[in-house]
Amino acid sequence: MIMDNSQFSYPPSEETGGSLNYLPLEETGGSLNYLPLEEAGGSLNYPPLEGAGGGPSAQFAKQHKSGFVNIIGNPNVGKSTLMNRLVGERISIITAKAQTTRHRILGIVNTDDMQIVYSDTPGVIQPNYKLQQSMLNFSQSALNDADVLLYVTDTVEKCTKNEEFLQKVRQAQCPVLLLINKIDLTDQSKLEQLVEQWHELLPDAEIIPLSALSSFNIEPIRKRVVELLPDSPPYFEKDALTDRPARFFVTEIIREKILLYYQKEIPYATEVLVEMFDESAEKIHIKAVIMVERDTQKGIIIGHQGQALKKVGTMARKDLELFFEKKIFLEMFVKVEKDWRNRDNMLKALGYDING
Ligand code: GDP
Ligand code: MG
Repeated sequence: MIMDNSQFSYPPSEETGGSLNYLPLEETGGSLNYLPLEEAGGSLNYPPLEGAGGGPSAQFAKQHKSGFVNIIGNPNVGKSTLMNRLVGERISIITAKAQTTRHRILGIVNTDDMQIVYSDTPGVIQPNYKLQQSMLNFSQSALNDADVLLYVTDTVEKCTKNEEFLQKVRQAQCPVLLLINKIDLTDQSKLEQLVEQWHELLPDAEIIPLSALSSFNIEPIRKRVVELLPDSPPYFEKDALTDRPARFFVTEIIREKILLYYQKEIPYATEVLVEMFDESAEKIHIKAVIMVERDTQKGIIIGHQGQALKKVGTMARKDLELFFEKKIFLEMFVKVEKDWRNRDNMLKALGYDING
């Protein structure tokens, strides 16, 4: 099914003279500032409600909708950007480099009568070392436990790129919304052709074009997701924003800076571990270890007279202070762990799912 044609017009018709003036983003102009969480300062760890998801509980006896909405697709198509728009907070990290998102991340939207649990997944990629195999497992499990699938593609990638994966999507038991992102980069007729091509590839999917970056067509997606949500009691506490603990955000923020600051293979050979997160004093005291695979990489991370590491540390600290709304004392160390990406126990210790 294809949504009505007005959805394909970009920019939106209310805007003047067909120019490409996007509405300014609510968040600060695409910068990497994290909007402070309402719950900042406290723990960000919300365990799921016990027994939730079973029969309707007495507490939520009136009509309530709840479900898992999984965002899938290739790296770099805009999944994290979209999820952040849908959830309305910065949760996943977003950079121009592929494979930023290594874990599944939940973003939870609550109202009185519904709870949407979004999960943003690593892109669909070919595994060529164990870490990537683990990332792929996250994506494939995302197909099986969803109530609604958001398959994100963009106006740049070829529709035929992932025939094998598309076959799995066709077999999904839940409704699929095919979201064609980055329509700010194309024109009307090219977009209409692309919609046709996708319609032939996935005839059962509803197609909605959008521009996540400029927040165009986010609302129709949100609305459709709510319509498709099953009747169910909530799965998580109603004030939950995400199931990830504070330490997770620390590693994500530091990793984002590493991705931005270092070239080529360095970021992909790197993992960040938070050894200490102490919020008892006025400043939050954080000790983080940057793990690399070889001595040469350690040298590059640290840089001449420690300058590179210092710069990354400063950038990370500034973002962490915005995120936690508190002063941060950040200490960073670099450690060589030979070949960590191929070692099962190391990957397990870091929380990757290596068995699927
Ligand atoms: P993911 O790997 O699928 O999670 O993709 P990200 O959300 O990290 O986005 C990858 C890149 O695409 C980033 O540089 C985004 O700013 C950019 N991007 C996301 N949405 C859009 C969009 O609607 N238009 C354009 N032009 N770029 C976008
Ligand atoms: Mg991502």
